[in-house]
Amino acid sequence: MTARGQAQSALREPDQAQSALRERSTDVVVIGSGPGGYVAAIRLAQLGKKVVLVEKEALGGVCLNVGCIPSKALISASKLVEQIRHAQAIGIHVEGVRVDLKQMMTWKGGVVGKLTGGVGQLVKGNGGAVLRGAAAFVDPHTVDVTTADGSIERVTFAHAIIATGSVPTTIPGFAFDGTTVIGSTEALAFEAVPERLVVVGGGYIGMELGGVWQRLGSHVTVLEYADQILPGFELDLVRPALKRFKDAGGAVHVGTRALGFDRLGQGPGAEVRVHAETLATHARVSFDADVILVTVGRRPFTEGLNLAAAGLATDAKGFLAVDGAQRTSVPHLFAIGDVAGQPMLAHKASKEGEVAAEVIAGHAAAFDARAVPAVVFTDPEIATVGLSVKDAEAAGHKVKSGRFPFAANGRALSLNDTDGFVRVVVDADSGVLLGVEAVGPEVSNLIAEAGLALEMGALASELGGVIHAHPTLAEAVMEAANGALGHAIHAMNK
Ligand code: FAD
Repeated sequence: MTARGQAQSALREPDQAQSALRERSTDVVVIGSGPGGYVAAIRLAQLGKKVVLVEKEALGGVCLNVGCIPSKALISASKLVEQIRHAQAIGIHVEGVRVDLKQMMTWKGGVVGKLTGGVGQLVKGNGGAVLRGAAAFVDPHTVDVTTADGSIERVTFAHAIIATGSVPTTIPGFAFDGTTVIGSTEALAFEAVPERLVVVGGGYIGMELGGVWQRLGSHVTVLEYADQILPGFELDLVRPALKRFKDAGGAVHVGTRALGFDRLGQGPGAEVRVHAETLATHARVSFDADVILVTVGRRPFTEGLNLAAAGLATDAKGFLAVDGAQRTSVPHLFAIGDVAGQPMLAHKASKEGEVAAEVIAGHAAAFDARAVPAVVFTDPEIATVGLSVKDAEAAGHKVKSGRFPFAANGRALSLNDTDGFVRVVVDADSGVLLGVEAVGPEVSNLIAEAGLALEMGALASELGGVIHAHPTLAEAVMEAANGALGHAIHAMNK
């Protein structure tokens, strides 16, 4: 190097060192921009806190990019296809329904894009900052954020919220390869409808996505280890969705352990044979498929965070334990969402985000929800909030319940969608509402009313006493509440 070159290089070095490690300080750093993290960041900014939201991938996390939103877009599109196919029952004859999958995926991408774009705008519009990169703790008050170009930004903070979410798990014999053995992310972005899809794991993600591809033309086989699909939901709630799935040609094998698979040809896209055994008899069974979708659960994600530097450790299952204020064992560090425990649901993550933000801002807040609703967007939908009859009895309640079928609801009839029912669970001694379970049309929306009633500690007579507009599906909630009290109008009371 010439003397001039050396001098220029010497002049540049301090600049480069500075650009390689930029620094900023903030009141709060939020790590992860899913429905937990971005909600926390917005709320913190609203409360006047200086906040930096760090995200290593796409803003919006799993839910907006590869979870709730794209799955629901494909669920509604595929249900529309199914409705059109069956429209002749109400005198509408449509010939040759053609699905342009590429266009459907573009539309789905547009839905996702609108929401993820909104996340950045809302954070910044409320005065927060977004920093793109992967955060790792350096000490309990510092993270280094490595950006896509490899540079590092050091952020010092008074409080941090860890909202790093979860990733899919798999089982032995089914390592993800992105084409033949896939997880939910790839199942939201097929370029062509797979002819035969084996779904390993009949939980809500497997049944929702299996349903999408079945309605779009795949032959779908679900293998489930437990003795029913959607374990955790009462069997009578599951039955209408199972029946529709089977009636449309889907196959379900419960009590079945998936063991592994063989490739029947060469290269990506080659046919496979999935091997399984029945738990009851240990009989070997096999299923040929083009794609294997593995949806056996999700695990909390903290890789690369260097939690030890912050004085934190996860529990045996990988979760960060928190108290009712979302505080971890290190009091200025909070955790929310999937990484902070079950249920791994977006609305639970968002509520925890609000709680953590408010606690950090000095407000008296706590996660004290009486019940977190759960919805499965099968066809028909399933939704629950609060206690089932079994749970309520196990908790020591003397229970009475009312069940109202959609077949007796005028709006369900006029929608030509009458499968399912609403069940209201009531404490027999006090008359207090304990839970609502439903399967049927639009129950994902109907469950909100039940959630409000539960949170307010309503009596079943109060839920049943509210005037519900006629004709609406929500009348089924009112009728089921009154049914528990022995006076549903449009059904026989036992
Ligand atoms: P996530 O959404 O997982 O976001 C975490 C974010 O943190 C990610 O973007 C990740 O890149 C980022 N991150 C991780 N580590 C770092 C780091 N070191 N530095 C910077 N960033 C980091 N839930 C529902 O309630 N309803 C549904 O209908 C529903 N449908 C679903 C469908 C599918 C197919 C899937 C997979 C999930 C679905 N879920 C649904 C679950 C829901 O997506 C999750 O419960 C929710 O996304 C959890 O939010 P979160 O904020 O905890 O984390």
